[in-house]
Amino acid sequence: MSSKDKSLVVLGSGIGGMAAASTLAFSGYNVTILEKCSTFGGKAGLLIKEGFNFDTGPSLLTLPDWIDEAFLFCNKNPRDYYSYEKLDIVTRYYFSDKTFVDVCGNIEKTADHFEKIGLDRKVFLDYMSKWNEIYDVSEKTFLSNNIKFNKVFLSNALEWLKKSSLKDIYLPMAKYNQRELSNQKIELIMNRFATYTGSSPYATPAFMNQLGVVEMMKGAYFPKGGIHSISKALYQLCLNVGVKFNFDSAVSNISYVKNKFKISTKEKTYDSLKLVSNIDFFQTQKLLQRNINVSTKDLSTSCVVFYWGVTKEFPKLKLHNIIFSGDYKQEFNDIFNCNDIADPTIYINISSKMDKTHAPNGCENWFVMINVPAKISLITNKELNRLRELIIKKLSIFVEENIASLISFEEILTPQKLHENTGSFEGALYGENQNSFKSIINRKKNQDKKLKNLFYVGGTVRPGGGMPLAAKSGIDTAKMILKDES
Ligand SMILES: Cc1cc2nc3c(=O)[nH]c(=O)nc-3n(C[C@H](O)[C@H](O)[C@H](O)COP(=O)(O)OP(=O)(O)OC[C@H]3O[C@@H](n4cnc5c(N)ncnc54)[C@H](O)[C@@H]3O)c2cc1C
Repeated sequence: MSSKDKSLVVLGSGIGGMAAASTLAFSGYNVTILEKCSTFGGKAGLLIKEGFNFDTGPSLLTLPDWIDEAFLFCNKNPRDYYSYEKLDIVTRYYFSDKTFVDVCGNIEKTADHFEKIGLDRKVFLDYMSKWNEIYDVSEKTFLSNNIKFNKVFLSNALEWLKKSSLKDIYLPMAKYNQRELSNQKIELIMNRFATYTGSSPYATPAFMNQLGVVEMMKGAYFPKGGIHSISKALYQLCLNVGVKFNFDSAVSNISYVKNKFKISTKEKTYDSLKLVSNIDFFQTQKLLQRNINVSTKDLSTSCVVFYWGVTKEFPKLKLHNIIFSGDYKQEFNDIFNCNDIADPTIYINISSKMDKTHAPNGCENWFVMINVPAKISLITNKELNRLRELIIKKLSIFVEENIASLISFEEILTPQKLHENTGSFEGALYGENQNSFKSIINRKKNQDKKLKNLFYVGGTVRPGGGMPLAAKSGIDTAKMILKDES
């Protein structure tokens, strides 16, 4: 193996791993992906059972342009690989008094709906317009993998500071939204966006309100065939540019000897001069035999998901539905203090609303998710049963039907299973949370501090969690590797 060797190993075939692998393979690298599962996609996986089709993880697509970037880099038309449609109704939000409001793909329509529940439409539109402006500066300033403190960065950062104002940076999101919106129901909706980084709206800084801009102003989409079509598209792209996949190849150890990585699986040891890990950042540290110093308080939330085949259709429910808890603040207090969750907010995704092939006739595929602490040992069988009963009871009241009697198929994702299936450390969805300004600034970088040929991509490192950011992390890190060698 010479120093000009153009072979490279990528660990994991999640969105970030496949985006990095395709970019590097198209640029002349001979790329091998080692994947512990028998298929690709990681968290963005697929479950098909008894006529029901479930996306195992992500359900909401935003910023598809960022994913398209992987295809465009390889001179391919992304629309030859996957397609999507913009949602008219994005999410139906239910409150504990059983009223609901729809957030739409059109911000003016959303403002109309919000006005009906007491928020002056101008107040809302001004609020969104401010965060939209801040988002646009942030996108080109902070959402880059490789922040360079040069003139362009500094002038963008200055513009950003002027727009957001210093005290708003530090104010917790929920406090800011209370001050600006003064409408408990709309505050809940805007506060929920903190969960997109696995954080608490009562801790994360107000500037994370930009997350709402992404969904409410840039648009939310449904990919044809469901979310897994994105994993499938990236897999096909990888194959087309020559990436080799070694499935059922769980990495058990990584060492760095004589300027190269030795990556051990049960069957074989692989050598690589450069290594890209798409495995959870902390899990990768464990494979490197490094000490990990992180507590549940620092980690993003985990989740429990019930995949239910339901033998009835519910016209009142949409593709994305949220049923808020009675006390949102207490819920986050419970999550980050590892208490039992007394009253969880429930998210229901029903992709059969958009694609009839996802459930048998007259049935629906319910993906029912709640947030829980990222601590595997907390969700015991007893606790899982308690949560299941609680959720069934709450949902049955909401839809005025005995849900338990309508569940014909069930599978459950727990933090433990998320860890086993995808390598998530303690089941955390996005690595560390963003509950403070410091944690945002210190998000794990894409290049190892000590070993400069070791790179990290995916939702647990920069720029952040979620499919578009994971894809961006893969593409930008690959470009960084290419630039380094030129
Ligand atoms: C329940 C849930 C809901 C979500 N909802 C959304 C949503 O609505 N919208 C959105 O954009 N995002 C959502 N996300 C987040 C999104 O799924 C991820 O951020 C995204 O898929 C990024 O994945 P990744 O690149 O970090 O790789 P991952 O999906 O984490 O993949 C890592 C890969 O590494 C492999 N691996 C792990 N350990 C080893 C090992 N030892 N050896 C070899 N291979 C290994 C795994 O098997 C896996 O294939 C959700 C996630 C979950 C779990």
